[in-house]
Amino acid sequence: MDLSEYRRRGKEMVDFIADYLENIRSYRVFPDVEPGYMRAMVPDGAPERGEKWDQIFADFQSAVMPGMTHWQSPRMHAYFPALNSPASLLGDMLAEGLNPVAFTWASSPACSELEIIVMDWLAKMLSLPEYFLHSCGSSSGGGCILTTASEGTLVSLLAARRQAIKNYRLDLDCDELTDSEINSRLIAYCSDQASALKAAVISLVQIRFVPSDERHSMRGAALERMIAEDVKRGLQPFYVCATLGTTGACAFDVLEEIGPVCKTHDLWLHVDAAYAGSSFVCPEFRQPMRGIQHAESFVFNPSKWLLVNFDCTALWVKDSRKLHNTFNIEPLYLKHERTGVAIDF
Ligand SMILES: *Cc1c(COP(=O)(O)O)cnc(C)c1O
Repeated sequence: MDLSEYRRRGKEMVDFIADYLENIRSYRVFPDVEPGYMRAMVPDGAPERGEKWDQIFADFQSAVMPGMTHWQSPRMHAYFPALNSPASLLGDMLAEGLNPVAFTWASSPACSELEIIVMDWLAKMLSLPEYFLHSCGSSSGGGCILTTASEGTLVSLLAARRQAIKNYRLDLDCDELTDSEINSRLIAYCSDQASALKAAVISLVQIRFVPSDERHSMRGAALERMIAEDVKRGLQPFYVCATLGTTGACAFDVLEEIGPVCKTHDLWLHVDAAYAGSSFVCPEFRQPMRGIQHAESFVFNPSKWLLVNFDCTALWVKDSRKLHNTFNIEPLYLKHERTGVAIDF
């Protein structure tokens, strides 16, 4: 396909998408297909010669469309909302067209600049603490875009662990212990309703599930009890993941109680607001955020409820140096004239 055909096909594609979204109500949300249904509809191997676009698009209509779940349908009530919008579709198209690989500032400066600015806008929209802003002079906080909330939770857990291992070694003056030996003494917490388990499994960190109350909320006293038990067993508590809007029942952990417990025990408080975070744009829905001033990191998904295409997760940290300490590697090919001055996401 050359660019002149791309111009023509692109316009057709925009029409196809607009028609699809306009008529979304007429689609059955969940497809009537069986596992493996597509095998019989396509060849065993890729074609030896390129096919015409008409042929490819006909295959898409006959083989792919019948197996699609229609997430944009107003009748889609499974999992969580994942909504796009015309402006978001256009933004995605532009990003794909320019296709920058923006891993450092120098690899495409405008991308990092824009990310810094928009993350600050978004933090202000949600009324997050000032220390999460890139533009807050007295803090080293800031936000960045990740692919998923699960990734945000994992990233925060790994940064918290790096810090906990370092502190453990300093406090107990035990140079002879390896990082993995210290790791085995660390313990993290989330409610029995939370989705932080994957991060704990991946990082080989022990996690305990704090029993939630009758409203499915994690409470300060229950957390405090578990921490006391674990300290008695010789473990070192270091991290709490509180959820604002759990995946199962949209329950809210009581941040107002959990925050002070984390402060007392010097624990990293991560707030997972993946779903309900969008609602904090409205001042009248911010009550569950009371206690947020104790948070070390906060994550939510604009791609769930803010009309931004999947996937888009926003993560803020109070001290970005803790991420650098955990994840930074500095191979020669990533160095640039502004290294250390600009943010290399
Ligand atoms: C949706 C959701 C997640 C998982 O989000 P991903 O971005 O798919 O990882 C995690 N936690 C909560 C509370 C959620 O609502």
